[in-house]
Amino acid sequence: MIAENVQRLLAQIAGGNGMGEPVTLVAATKTRTSEEINEAIAAGITDIGENKVQEFTQKFDAVQGGRRHFIGHLQTNKVKYLIGKADLIQSLDRYELADELQKRAEKAGWTANCLIEVNIGSELSKSGFSRKDVRAAYEKLRTYPNIRLCGLMAMLPISEDLAYLRSLCLSMREIYDTIKADDTNFRFLSMGMSGDWELCLECGSNMIRLGTAIFGPRNLPAAGGEKEGA
Ligand SMILES: *Cc1c(COP(=O)(O)O)cnc(C)c1O
Repeated sequence: MIAENVQRLLAQIAGGNGMGEPVTLVAATKTRTSEEINEAIAAGITDIGENKVQEFTQKFDAVQGGRRHFIGHLQTNKVKYLIGKADLIQSLDRYELADELQKRAEKAGWTANCLIEVNIGSELSKSGFSRKDVRAAYEKLRTYPNIRLCGLMAMLPISEDLAYLRSLCLSMREIYDTIKADDTNFRFLSMGMSGDWELCLECGSNMIRLGTAIFGPRNLPAAGGEKEGA
């Protein structure tokens, strides 16, 4: 089942996003076992994303290969566990976290690849910089020597209003393009989950994070939002 889902999804994104850019499929692996994750990797998954530091650490050695992303809300006191291990931290959502990352990364002689998280729908339940603050956040965060900004991450709100969702996606792409124009490290717009990835790709996302679409429904409570990792 997992292998079939992965192969179907990889075939669906093989043509790239709406702009013809290649798309990275990140398997969102919260609550999944290392066996399930290894099955996905064997089927062609190249990138995996965990929400909780505990799961990231526990499965780290048992999972074979794959670039390791951290996609959940990151508490500052847990940053130390990701140093030297996370290939991309997608949830850089506040300066306090950047301060801690900088401190720990510098000590370890390491650079943290990060995406700036944007609270695209201005939702109280989600963290991230507001759309109007992204540019200022970028300007400030880029001065941290041990943090390398590689793009933006966002989660669409739950809504039936497709026109609204589309406008949010397009505005993310616009912000992304503006920054990317003078920053060659800036190459990922991570936006799209199992319920909305097609719309996101159409509007210019080039990285999607899928859990349910790959592994099936999660049976634990708290499924969904980033806050479950808090
Ligand atoms: C769980 C999760 C996903 C994937 O969610 P699905 O709806 O299962 O595809 C993507 N991004 C983040 C940050 C998540 O926590």
